[in-house]
Amino acid sequence: MTDFSITKDAEGIATITWDCPGKSMNVMSGEALLQLDACIDDALADASVKGVVITSGKKDFAGGMDLNVLADMRAQAGDNPAQGLFDGIMQMHALLRKIELAGMDFKTKKGGKPIAAALPGTAAGIGLELPLATHRIFVADNPKAKLGLPEILVGIFPGAGGTTRLVRKLGAMAASGFLLEGKMVDPKKAKSAGIIDEVVADPVAAARAWVLTATDADLVKPWDAKGYKMPGGAPYHPAGFMTFVGASAMVNGKTKGAFPAPKALLSAVYEGALVPFDTALKIEARWFTHVLMNPSSAAMIRSLFLNKEALEKGAVRPQGIADQSVKKLGVLGAGMMGAGIALVSAMAGIEVVLIDATQEAAEKGRAYSEAYLDKGIKRGRVTADKKAAVLGQITATTDYAALAGCDLIIEAVFEDMGVKAEVTKKALAVIPADCIYASNTSTLPITDLAKASDKPDQFIGIHFFSPVERMLLVEIIKGKETGARAVAKALDYVRQIRKTPIVVNDARFFYCNRCIIPYMNEAMRIVTEGTPAAMVDHAAQQLGFPVGPIQLTDETSIDLGAKIARATKAAMGNAYPASPADDLIFWMEEQGRLGRKSKAGFFDYDETGKRLGYWQGVTDKFPAAQQLPALQDVKDRLMFAQVLEAVRALEEGVLEDIREGDVGAILAWGFAPWSGGPFAYLDMLGAEYAAERCDQLQAAYGDRFACPPLLREMAENGESFYQRFNPNAAQAA
Ligand code: NAD
Repeated sequence: MTDFSITKDAEGIATITWDCPGKSMNVMSGEALLQLDACIDDALADASVKGVVITSGKKDFAGGMDLNVLADMRAQAGDNPAQGLFDGIMQMHALLRKIELAGMDFKTKKGGKPIAAALPGTAAGIGLELPLATHRIFVADNPKAKLGLPEILVGIFPGAGGTTRLVRKLGAMAASGFLLEGKMVDPKKAKSAGIIDEVVADPVAAARAWVLTATDADLVKPWDAKGYKMPGGAPYHPAGFMTFVGASAMVNGKTKGAFPAPKALLSAVYEGALVPFDTALKIEARWFTHVLMNPSSAAMIRSLFLNKEALEKGAVRPQGIADQSVKKLGVLGAGMMGAGIALVSAMAGIEVVLIDATQEAAEKGRAYSEAYLDKGIKRGRVTADKKAAVLGQITATTDYAALAGCDLIIEAVFEDMGVKAEVTKKALAVIPADCIYASNTSTLPITDLAKASDKPDQFIGIHFFSPVERMLLVEIIKGKETGARAVAKALDYVRQIRKTPIVVNDARFFYCNRCIIPYMNEAMRIVTEGTPAAMVDHAAQQLGFPVGPIQLTDETSIDLGAKIARATKAAMGNAYPASPADDLIFWMEEQGRLGRKSKAGFFDYDETGKRLGYWQGVTDKFPAAQQLPALQDVKDRLMFAQVLEAVRALEEGVLEDIREGDVGAILAWGFAPWSGGPFAYLDMLGAEYAAERCDQLQAAYGDRFACPPLLREMAENGESFYQRFNPNAAQAA
């Protein structure tokens, strides 16, 4: 069995079918490219073939490139990986260009064979770049299909001609959403955007009919025809000039220079627009090689694609435990978190019993789903039927008896040991003996909470982030006695609601909050030293964080920070390290500046909650330092506060798998995605330099930057985290 096969019929049509054996979705491999090449050569050389239809043997066309191909190209090139990548990419261009020119005489543009793409469903990445090289694209009228070029989301860009072809087809402005944001659209939208040609009931039949009637002129791409002008104007055209200036500013404004791929993409587009098509492809290949050679792209692919997918597919699920999919879920507490948990679960088709202390509170929790669905209807994303079905899954009640028959409980009542113990007991009285019980606590040890249960092996932490429906990560926490079935249940549930899980051991603040808190505290500390809050936020943004920590504190609220500090102090007693960060947070709280919710915080706000600028009061209280600190120091303090905590979490066994540490950091708190996560970041710095930098920061700013013994040892042995802890994933990138 091969990925691509060719059949020829009596009408003279060769059908090339893409059907990866043993996979539910086609992905392009190096071997498959060679097979496609051979099929095309066969069809073009065979005089009995009049035209070609390229289609899929699956319900979709293709999900994209197997990203291991890129790693292989690099590895095979030995000591000149850039050359290996460039040559491999140029080979891909040669194949797609062969399809595009289809044997025609380039001068007369005659004698080519029509080649059409017939797509039954989703076509992403190379799955769309291949059709873009054909002469006409027919797509099934399948609203579930998604078409687009999502490469930018994993730190690369469409490098198999997709960038050059889409820009020449749509113009730079119209192509920008697809290229720079990785926008995926359904077939009708793809047609109106001009990416594909026709949406039909039977794309293969339509493609065949077209192939039989296509003329020489139908095969000539606009950019191969005389007098071609780029839609919207090339850079030397007044309108094009405006587009490119704007795009450059927009990309730099959005990425703050932290992400290499968008910048390289823009260069490829700009430079490519100034030259003939084949030279543009070469330029695209050079910039693509440039991006692939940047360690950021390998790290992003590894974390955001390979490792994320591995975790979603159960990489850390205990072996040998039968499917634990949830059928009936009990949610205790219908507040902000409980309401969100009910919503995402009901959306996944799970029956939900939503309990609160009063009927009114329970109903309010259910109304959250209703409001969410109504918004979806307004935006055309949800149908009335779907709304009815989802709401029909949620029973809002105060009656614990309704929990009978639940196979999973998630408790999300007040963050109070006593209240949590009380509801645990009430639920245990009615739920089946084998029901798994989870708490959504953010700070209380799971092992302690499990004491309220007579089955601590069935007790676990399932920690969501707010807002539940938007945040992609769920942190699963194993208490000391949590059993394997509880872990499997939590993982199967997270899979049902289509989020990404990480599994960690029980310790204060688990993994994510454990790293976020020192980061926020470091930011506060820097401000108390007389550094402008703006500088701190900008430093974080230049590191690739979507918002700076000062602004984030305003968003999550200052009293929450104060509450966490007080609770931690109470729990740690004398071991609690005094910090100037607390002075600032408590002072802000005293001033009643609680953040955006009180329309006053580190920022001033207007009545509608719009930020007006940083509040002068902070500078009055903590006067500006005589000399600003070096920006690199501010950046490194913010970064090291997080990554050293991640290393300590690994040292202490809170984290068992660095992949979880990396994926979790990016999804939970937006940790510099370009870096691939804290461990990938440290690998990029190199353990030796990282340890040296720890020493410098420790000398200048204090012992919280002391180099963790593990990192020191790795520095001495010349090791990296991925080599030492995950050699397979290290290779994949
Ligand atoms: P919330 O105050 O919005 O909701 C708590 C709900 O529990 C309220 O509706 C309350 O009426 C209900 N409740 C209290 N006592 C009850 C009882 N005895 N029986 C039934 N219902 C009762 O709080 P929240 O922000 O949704 O947080 C809930 C839990 O989730 C806490 O443990 C919190 O630490 C955790 N958490 C919160 C966040 C967050 O960002 N807010 C994130 C992760 C985890």
